[in-house]
Amino acid sequence: MRVGSGVDVHAFGPGDAVMLGGVRIAHSHGIVAHSDGDVLLHALVDALLGAAGLGDIGQHFPDSDARWKGADSARFLTATLQLLAQAGQRVVNADLTLLAEAPRIGPWRDAIRSNVARLLALPPGCVNLKATTTERLGFLGRGEGLAAMATVLIDAA
Ligand code: MG
Repeated sequence: MRVGSGVDVHAFGPGDAVMLGGVRIAHSHGIVAHSDGDVLLHALVDALLGAAGLGDIGQHFPDSDARWKGADSARFLTATLQLLAQAGQRVVNADLTLLAEAPRIGPWRDAIRSNVARLLALPPGCVNLKATTTERLGFLGRGEGLAAMATVLIDAA
């Protein structure tokens, strides 16, 4: 068994929705990003790559590559799962944490959890989603952006 962790941050910008775990959530701002800026999926991809010893998201999906402009981050996750499969590894569970003052994800928590579980081909009970503010401290507390952390366990398939 191998463990991996991932972190991602994106700034808010113009727009009316954010993508979180592949779910579109209406918000007062959008995300500044080359792809769709889904911090939960980006942190998850980095955790999976880390667990497998396969580097990081920037190496595999560089933001200098026009292929990934506006990309649905689910594509990054799908491609990463293929890399893990080639390495003879499967995902056991994932624990995700969103750090943001807003949007509050309570109403979408189950939808995000189910969607991430679907993308990982895991039962929803093997994917956990937590959320916290930073008590109004720092760039997250000022609502300048949002961040996510992910921890995963993988094992031989
Ligand atoms: Mg990112």
